[in-house]
Amino acid sequence: MMINGKIWLSSPTMHSEEMKFIQEAFETNWVAPLGPNVNEFEKEMAAYIGIGHAAALVSGTSALHLAVKLAGVKPGDTVFCSDLTFSATVNPVSYEGGVQVFIDSERETWNMDPHALKKAFEKYPACKCVIVANLYGTPAKLDEIVAICDAHGAVLIEDAAESLSATYKGRQTGSFGKYNVLSFNGNKIITTSGGGMLLSDDKEDIKKARFWATQSREPFPWYEHEEIGYNYRMSNIVAGIGRGQLLHLDEHRALKKKIYETYKAAFTDIDAINMNPYLPCSEPNFWLSCILLDNHLKLTPMDIINALANRNIEARPIWKPMHRQPVFAARDFICMEGDTGNEIFERGLCLPSDIKNTDEDMELVISIIRGMVA
Ligand SMILES: *Cc1c(COP(=O)(O)O)cnc(C)c1O
Repeated sequence: MMINGKIWLSSPTMHSEEMKFIQEAFETNWVAPLGPNVNEFEKEMAAYIGIGHAAALVSGTSALHLAVKLAGVKPGDTVFCSDLTFSATVNPVSYEGGVQVFIDSERETWNMDPHALKKAFEKYPACKCVIVANLYGTPAKLDEIVAICDAHGAVLIEDAAESLSATYKGRQTGSFGKYNVLSFNGNKIITTSGGGMLLSDDKEDIKKARFWATQSREPFPWYEHEEIGYNYRMSNIVAGIGRGQLLHLDEHRALKKKIYETYKAAFTDIDAINMNPYLPCSEPNFWLSCILLDNHLKLTPMDIINALANRNIEARPIWKPMHRQPVFAARDFICMEGDTGNEIFERGLCLPSDIKNTDEDMELVISIIRGMVA
């Protein structure tokens, strides 16, 4: 549906329950601090994922920061990170003085290549922390990655910010790491306008995260501090939006899948266009539908993005790999043969995947792209 005259990549989709939970918060004056919506949102999300404990926070980035702290990353420590991802996956390593080493992607899910991860441990055997992201809602090769981390005694942090409700061998993403991160930013599959969550089976660690997130206040009548704290807790109003959205998460995923299947069917006769792939043992949440253009096509992703933009349709390049970002120019990058992530960046793009888009919107997007490739 055109909203404000535009077909969107992925915009918030609200229902009626969000306001009900916010209304309750106003009526009981749980506007602040924290309050029942925060406690319930944590419990409901932990139950949905199938994990023991959760801390609701102001953003996915703050959840990643606390995960990196809990993993014990100290200044100078090496942390292996997904390379083809949003910068928020890897920035928190720098907050703690750690040093990212970027691991290339494989072609079957576009996520961290387990072979490259193994190679990285040969070069940096002392590494004790790995951060893997599930790109665009597609689960990584999680069994292989967990096994490699276990073999090296490394803590795994799973960045499931884009993959909430996706499953791998029947198990929810956001449960494979010792620490797991969700985001409820505006364009994610469900949103609280802004927010995030840290999840773990370790009760004490989640308690510690809540402590750091509320300014590290020691249990004294006055403000007593033994550690540096942060103001990272989610508000009770924001958590109310989250509780309402969670009721519609499975419905959102079904609509995202329909968008993916529609694009896939529309491009199936064009060999030069391929959808973002996933493993048969996984069920993505199809957060963003992406295509990869064959090398022999003269057409570039930016040609398509610009053509769509001319019709007020939002599409986007693939995340630019972290090892090619100026800010990380000094960091190491481990790949097998070739730079797979960069090839995907140079030949791929994200298509409009907003669940409010109509059949007519989809037809328009598809006809513009088909017209350019044919
Ligand atoms: C959105 C996103 C984040 C950050 O979440 P915020 O809530 O925006 O801080 C982290 N990692 C990935 C992969 C994301 O897509």
